[in-house]
Amino acid sequence: MKRFCVRCGVEESKDTPIIDNLCPKCFVEVKGIVKPIDFIEIESCGICGAIRYNGKWYYPTTPEEAKLIVREVISSRINVAEDIKIVSLDIDLGRIAEGVANIILKISIHGKTTMDIVKSIPIRWRKTICINCRRRHGKSYTAIIQLRYLNIDGEVNKFIDEISEMFTDFISEISEVDNGFDIKVLDIHTATKIVEMARRRWRYVRIVESYGDVMRRSDGSRYARKYISIRIMNIKPGDYIVVSGVPYTVLSVDGDVVRLLNSDGVEEVMPMDILIKGYSKFRSKRKESYRSG
Ligand SMILES: [Zn+2]
Ligand SMILES: [Zn+2]
Repeated sequence: MKRFCVRCGVEESKDTPIIDNLCPKCFVEVKGIVKPIDFIEIESCGICGAIRYNGKWYYPTTPEEAKLIVREVISSRINVAEDIKIVSLDIDLGRIAEGVANIILKISIHGKTTMDIVKSIPIRWRKTICINCRRRHGKSYTAIIQLRYLNIDGEVNKFIDEISEMFTDFISEISEVDNGFDIKVLDIHTATKIVEMARRRWRYVRIVESYGDVMRRSDGSRYARKYISIRIMNIKPGDYIVVSGVPYTVLSVDGDVVRLLNSDGVEEVMPMDILIKGYSKFRSKRKESYRSG
């Protein structure tokens, strides 16, 4: 009497052996081939691109080398169900930039039959700093973000908490200064991300970038620190402001326009972007001292 698959009813044949009362197709569906895995995390250095595998840092010099290491990381995480042996394992990294790796497995079940399985696994990159970069940078930093507000605002402290948690490995120091914070960042990439976050957080910011003096690292290479000034333009009614040389008192802020009162008692409506470009001095209603923009 011929055996058949208890799940789908297919009869046993040369190409379809019955294993544990199941055909190969049902066998892999019931047993699961690759043990459930939500994603594979790959740790890489945000400064030099080194990749961590088994606790060790590897320093690829070509994209091909990098792919070899990524393959090792991925294949080390693939576990198959019991009764199944991996005959060959290919990893297609064509969509790795989108965070997906395609695993192409050839498996054998009880040594009786082989099957090809294709499976997509999400890849998550975790950016940290490798041992070499940590040593080289030490306490130094390559960018300093000078975040300044016009009026003290709970959002600013929230923002500082968020970035210090999010970029903990890339920020060497955050210090509170008059009307804001200085954020010392190890790499330009992280600095750019923080600037983008600030841009999204506050509708009106004025950003000015400049470079400091050229310096030398201990390994002899030269670099210049980047200074990024982010001025959060959170003006409030009652503030005093000088725009293009004319002093005003702020009456109200209404979306994109600000109503101002000049010293002759004449009201003026000014678009926010013109105010941001032209303002030079500012005094908060709550502060006594003037400061320059
Ligand atoms: Zn079946
Ligand atoms: Zn590194």
